[in-house]
Amino acid sequence: MPLLVMKFGGTSVADLGRIANAAEKVRREVERGYDVIVIVSAMSGKTNELVGWVETTSPLYDAREYDAVVASGENVTAGLMALRLQEMDIPARSWQGWQVPINTTSAHSAARFVSIPRGNIDAKFAEGFKVAVVAGFQGVSEEGRITTLGRGGSDTTAVAFAAAFGAERCDIYTDVDGIYTTDPRISGKARKLDRIAFEEMLELASLGAKVLQTRSVELAMRYNVRLRVLSSFEDTDNNSGTLVCAEEDIVESKVVSGVAYSRDEAKITLFTIEDRPGVASSIFGALSEAGVNVDMIVQNISEKNYDAAHPGAVTDMTFSCPVNQVARAQKALEDAQAAGAIAYDELIIDTDVCKVSVVGIGMRSHTGVAARMFKALSAENVNIKVIATSEIKISVLIDRKYMELAVQALHDTFGLESAS
Ligand code: ADP
Ligand code: ASP
Ligand code: MG
Repeated sequence: MPLLVMKFGGTSVADLGRIANAAEKVRREVERGYDVIVIVSAMSGKTNELVGWVETTSPLYDAREYDAVVASGENVTAGLMALRLQEMDIPARSWQGWQVPINTTSAHSAARFVSIPRGNIDAKFAEGFKVAVVAGFQGVSEEGRITTLGRGGSDTTAVAFAAAFGAERCDIYTDVDGIYTTDPRISGKARKLDRIAFEEMLELASLGAKVLQTRSVELAMRYNVRLRVLSSFEDTDNNSGTLVCAEEDIVESKVVSGVAYSRDEAKITLFTIEDRPGVASSIFGALSEAGVNVDMIVQNISEKNYDAAHPGAVTDMTFSCPVNQVARAQKALEDAQAAGAIAYDELIIDTDVCKVSVVGIGMRSHTGVAARMFKALSAENVNIKVIATSEIKISVLIDRKYMELAVQALHDTFGLESAS
């Protein structure tokens, strides 16, 4: 029997009416002859509420209990979806992660898949079940504890199931009708893409476009899963969404294909550090041990070149990290300074910044993209604080108050509103 994976995000299962609407979409595919694995998120807002309860009860919580609480949102929707399908005379049952089992590492709240054995679910399909409703975002560790995959993780559950079960397609149903040139909630000029290359989507996701979790795109690319993003509110037959596919299958040839942003960034500068081998290693070693996700890094050029014969050269180091990790980063650096592992004169923390990025595989073969980007920002009087580039992206850190303005200016500059 051909098999499809259909994933419904939080807004698509936000209440009983929406669950019924999603179940109708599942029915349509069952009537077309598919066995279906449905992956569900928690009802929208539920995961945030559960996280809030954990943090209020125990600010320095035990990560295993965090996962036990936070994973529960998906259990509710999985059971409700199975009930709804049964009411429609479709043989269905729910599966929590441990029942499948979805085996993961024990990195709580950031677990990764180890294996998804097919046996249990295949046996139920063989008995005549048409739909397996699986709770997204969760798994079970080798120690038998409940784990979660990080926010937005149900996308990754969906792609992993599509790979494990050889699904014909993995359809991600959400509250927008596809992947856009930028977040349609930020720019009214955003344009829906028919197709986007894995590499581009990977960059957009990792730079903040939360329409797909980054890891889900990585898995889809690795296992060549046909991944589609589409609206759960529109009629399926006029709703082809966006296909995430190999670069060779893209006809559109823009230099830049999308603009992404990440709102909650922070910038930390260590002033006057020694310029000698081992200093960066001590600073970022301390941050890494504290679990800080460092993103962009800039080291100033010293006035004097490092030279073992003439010690005393100094420099400054700046890096960015998520704003909710600033306290942890500050403590790690201050502790390292107190322990004599690092030395700086001053720590300056800026929590009012955001990151805006342009992404496009066309950048590989075009020059001048950075210059156009910086010109557009300067025309809006937006000051750039940090710059980072890779083969197919350019990111800047700017004041958060300019975020929307910058996204729109870049969208205009690179002509993303119009096709090709
Ligand atoms: P779900 O709950 O279905 O997983 P998410 O809220 O995680 O949905 O992701 C969908 C949201 O992603 C959209 O509502 C949109 O605001 C946002 N988004 C950000 N960037 C983009 C983009 N380039 N294209 C489409 N949506 C985007
Ligand atoms: N419910 C989880 C979250 O809000 C996972 C998901 O929806 O993908 O992050
Ligand atoms: Mg999501």
